[in-house]
Amino acid sequence: MRITAYGAAREVTGSCHLLEAAGKRIIVDCGQFQGGEHSYDRSTEPFPFDPRSIDAVVLTHGHLDHIGRLPLLVKEGFEGPIYATAETREIGRLILADAAHVMYEEYGWRKRKAARQGREIPPPPYAVEDALLAVDQFAPPVAYESPTSLGNGLSLTLRNAGHVLGSAFVEFEEKRNGSGKSVVFSGDLGYRGRQVMPDPAACPPCDVVVSESTYGDRPHRPVEESRQEFAEAIKEALRRGGNVVIPSFALERTQEVLYYLHEMWDAGEIPSNCHIFLDSPLAISITEAYERHLRDLNPRLVASLDRGEDPFGFPGVEFTPSVEDSRAINSWPSGSIIIAGSGMANGGRVIHHLRHNLWREDSSVIFAGYQAIGTPGRAIVDGARSVKIMGEEIAVRARIYTINGLSAHADSRGIIDWLRGSGNADVFLVHGEPDSLDALATAIRDELRRNVTVVEPKTPYDV
Ligand code: ZN
Repeated sequence: MRITAYGAAREVTGSCHLLEAAGKRIIVDCGQFQGGEHSYDRSTEPFPFDPRSIDAVVLTHGHLDHIGRLPLLVKEGFEGPIYATAETREIGRLILADAAHVMYEEYGWRKRKAARQGREIPPPPYAVEDALLAVDQFAPPVAYESPTSLGNGLSLTLRNAGHVLGSAFVEFEEKRNGSGKSVVFSGDLGYRGRQVMPDPAACPPCDVVVSESTYGDRPHRPVEESRQEFAEAIKEALRRGGNVVIPSFALERTQEVLYYLHEMWDAGEIPSNCHIFLDSPLAISITEAYERHLRDLNPRLVASLDRGEDPFGFPGVEFTPSVEDSRAINSWPSGSIIIAGSGMANGGRVIHHLRHNLWREDSSVIFAGYQAIGTPGRAIVDGARSVKIMGEEIAVRARIYTINGLSAHADSRGIIDWLRGSGNADVFLVHGEPDSLDALATAIRDELRRNVTVVEPKTPYDV
């Protein structure tokens, strides 16, 4: 077996791996790079392999940094099947079509700006039609824990990663001449003990694990403490009098935030005159997907479903899919909670709400997710006094809250504990910033006594 990490092995973006085994060439995830001023700058780069030579693609989950370049792969000649869970297929379709739409919107204003400067810029890597064509190549859905043959004695098994709806880690087994080898790709692992997602399944004994290391250099606070911290931030922000903006990832973070707000609403911790808006068409569609698949989520949600409750809908919350409804939010001068994408404030409707609120001393912004280097979200969290939004420098005077423990990612402890299940597997680390990769490598060597390799991008490893 041979593994090569493409994309950005030393960043938390653009996950993409090539597995060569049993005469097959399989791509695990085909993610878009994030970070930088524009959402797709780095995603137009050509693939470092020939897409026509790839036999199949396996997707671990629907986040853009794991699926975002799939339409480009298809456009450039990949004709094989794409394997994923039913939920990842559903979410992938929504996310890719939205990404293409957002890129073309951004392209429109960038093109006009470039034209005024006498320049031309290249179009986005793909359009909505390309996204829909890619989705057509999905194989029948793969159920958790049921092996699927890829031919030549190679099979794959998806297991619940507990990260987002439909997320999986994937085990490949190659059986030849009575002997076998197996490799597990972690995808993104979930954090144990959360409210909406179940805990990740155990890692099976195997020969090699290729593991993410997003939070490899730090532990999260316990879930309950972070829930309290979030509730306190909401209560304090509402007392400050202005609006509360929550930049939120459409997939998972939004549903978790809604769940917590629902709890606070039921407990009377949010005044009944407070208006809560979910202002993201994508997040609304994904929340509906969560509602269709409640039984795949945390068992406590199944219990609330059996009591006839909707975990994500309650009287104080209003979904605003249309542009008119979104604009109308600005007519509320204060006392509203606005959940909008993108989660790193580098696009989407949240930038309008930040433009209206970031400069106001009585408003608040609550960041409840990871902010990649180079994004406006990261700049704000790191204490920037002003940020550029829609070409305009906006002062940061609002109160900024950062709630890290709501992460959908396992922390260093979670990754190490999960790796214990792999027996004596060699560990290859990817998908983390350099400090996280190095710290996690040291911890795994010290604690689990394993062979650990911090993967160099585009370097083949024979395993
Ligand atoms: Zn993810």
